[in-house]
Amino acid sequence: MTPDVIKSKFPQVPDRISGLIDLAYNLWWSWNPAVKMVFKQLNHQAWIDSIHNPVKMLHALPEETLVAASKNPAYLRHYDIVIAQFQYEMMHRHHWYAENYPASNGLSIAYFSAEYGIHHSLPFYAGGLGFLAGDHLKESSDLGLPLVAVGFMYSEGYLHQHIGPDGWQQDIKEILDRDAAPINRVLYNHENQLVVRVPFIDPPIFVAVWKVDVGNIPLYLLDTDIVENDPANRSITYRLYTGDNEQRLKQEIVLGIGGSYVLDVLGIRPSVIHLNEGHPAFALLERIRENILDKYSYTEASQRVQDTTIFTTHTPVPAGHDAFPYPLMDKYFKDYYPLLGISRETFLSLGHSPGDSRNLFNMTAFALKMSTFKNGVSRRHGEVARSMWRPLFPEVPEDEIPIHHITNGIHVPTWLDPKMQLLLNRYFSPSCPQWLEKHDNQVLWEMISEIPDDELWAVHLQLKRKLVNRIREHKRRRWVGENADPLNVISGGALLDPYALTIGFARRFSTYKRADLIFHDIERLKKIVNNPWKPIQIIFAGKAHPADDEGKRIIQNVYKYALQQDFGGRIAFVEDYGEQMAQYLVHGVDVWLNNPLPPLEACGTSGMKASLNGVLHMSVLDGWWPEAYNGKNGWVFGEVATDRNHDRQDAEQLYELLERDVAPLYYMHSDDGVPHMWVKMMKEAIKCTAPRFSAKRMVKEYVRNGYIPTLNNADRYRKRG
Ligand SMILES: *Cc1c(COP(=O)(O)O)cnc(C)c1O
Repeated sequence: MTPDVIKSKFPQVPDRISGLIDLAYNLWWSWNPAVKMVFKQLNHQAWIDSIHNPVKMLHALPEETLVAASKNPAYLRHYDIVIAQFQYEMMHRHHWYAENYPASNGLSIAYFSAEYGIHHSLPFYAGGLGFLAGDHLKESSDLGLPLVAVGFMYSEGYLHQHIGPDGWQQDIKEILDRDAAPINRVLYNHENQLVVRVPFIDPPIFVAVWKVDVGNIPLYLLDTDIVENDPANRSITYRLYTGDNEQRLKQEIVLGIGGSYVLDVLGIRPSVIHLNEGHPAFALLERIRENILDKYSYTEASQRVQDTTIFTTHTPVPAGHDAFPYPLMDKYFKDYYPLLGISRETFLSLGHSPGDSRNLFNMTAFALKMSTFKNGVSRRHGEVARSMWRPLFPEVPEDEIPIHHITNGIHVPTWLDPKMQLLLNRYFSPSCPQWLEKHDNQVLWEMISEIPDDELWAVHLQLKRKLVNRIREHKRRRWVGENADPLNVISGGALLDPYALTIGFARRFSTYKRADLIFHDIERLKKIVNNPWKPIQIIFAGKAHPADDEGKRIIQNVYKYALQQDFGGRIAFVEDYGEQMAQYLVHGVDVWLNNPLPPLEACGTSGMKASLNGVLHMSVLDGWWPEAYNGKNGWVFGEVATDRNHDRQDAEQLYELLERDVAPLYYMHSDDGVPHMWVKMMKEAIKCTAPRFSAKRMVKEYVRNGYIPTLNNADRYRKRG
């Protein structure tokens, strides 16, 4: 529970409801609609003003409001139920994991990731990798895994996005108010924040430690923005993925070496390490060093580390793997590798990627060599990763290369809209009250056919109105309050129609995602969009990396199309895509468009979020979609060839699909006003996605195939001593 030092910062919260402070500091509230209500009921406007951040809201609320709530019997009833459930969840040890793996008692896993997408009040993510990590933690909490996580406290987060009058992305910096965020300082001697020096790295780097509670999972965050550091080092954790190679190396040193050392200082000795992507791989060096301190030789120590390491790779693009020039490695590691008892050559060879003649220390190659269980993040990506890393395994036939796949999944309670959840609950709970906890059971989802079409349709329309409303109200406020440029108001979606067939395209604007593919033939698209009987509108959102001018140019193109009068305001670009907007979009559009250049989308998860809510996925066969598509739950288009540009063919297939199948089906309403064929597909989409593409299925696979075998290795080592 929350330490007293924190509670003392909220003197206005009466004792009777002081459990609100505990709730506010545990992100568990964010995936439990009933808990959200406990905050919302205090004061709806304050909840909105805090942008759904209960810590900020509790700071802002006047004492009278809180005192009144503490005396309101109806409020207290709800509060007591929620607190009881919270305490039960946090104390309860009879979770899935403990029931299934009692023998692994006392063994633990440390999960390392450079980003986490948990909630928009914690801007520690750039995109899919972060949400995958966040969803992994939430599900690990639900399943009761003995897992701790390590990441960064990025004080500037990922930049905010405004679009200028010329359509060019402006990157807006916003400093996180650490005291209004749901994070706590990790203290030593009950007073000062824990600060450690990253071991043996010279020039020295110091990190302060923060903690976020994600249900039962502690996430430790590292922060270099402290007076102990010289100015260049203070900025190491300002923001995600700086373009500067040296700064990036320093980040990865802090995450891997600093992060491992922090766990050690906290008395946490994980049995197994899970590296989410190559960024944190230096953690393995620190683990080797710890083993050497325990009197093992380098060879024994590195074998022990390898046998207890899991590595997940996410990047099918060779250029996407971090690799550092040898002189830079020398600069920071000259004092470090002697501690491992190895020569500079041996040290550098750990990061050598065969087939790459440049003198670079490749983080992915290093992690692949130093881990026992390795995986890609979809079936297709597993194949791509095996082929890509073939040179590392010269003796092994390609299909036997030990890089497996565990397809990504999404945390269902986070991404299933609460209204949708209520509807499902009404029809599922009579025969299976625990359906949400057991949602990875495919059989259970057969019950979806019991939901009347008109009810599912009504909920969907409601979510769509909510989305359009939200976009328009936002623009109205900018127009009224900030004197926004009228063109920006229009391109931002002011003319959106809550009744038109709506396509969503929202993701990072990396070139391989081909956001502007649908504009390949403008005249044809105009005809499709402006069909008087079957109009279509398209909502775009997403940020380009601040250093990615090519991505920014694509945004600019889309923005300019949005302003063409011929499109009638039916193309919109919504600024500053983040977790909150993602929730609106994946719940509220009709179709989710996905057209990356195969095989460059390792998995993709936004389509899963959409599909889970009955938003139909229209996608090229890449990432997770080849595993999911069954002819009834969405659409497929495009070529899969990897050796040539096929934008034209893909765009034509997309137009044809829209004209021939998608629009006619959507507008084919029966006398009761419900498009039954469409709703049938929605049900098929939900039924297919919820059990198989959920984080529950994913985390269970990590447990069975990755964690348990490596924990067993750790156990053997532990017993051997
Ligand atoms: C899910 C999610 C992503 C990942 O989307 P992809 O399909 O992998 O591109 C990115 N950003 C946000 C805000 C998300 O919620």
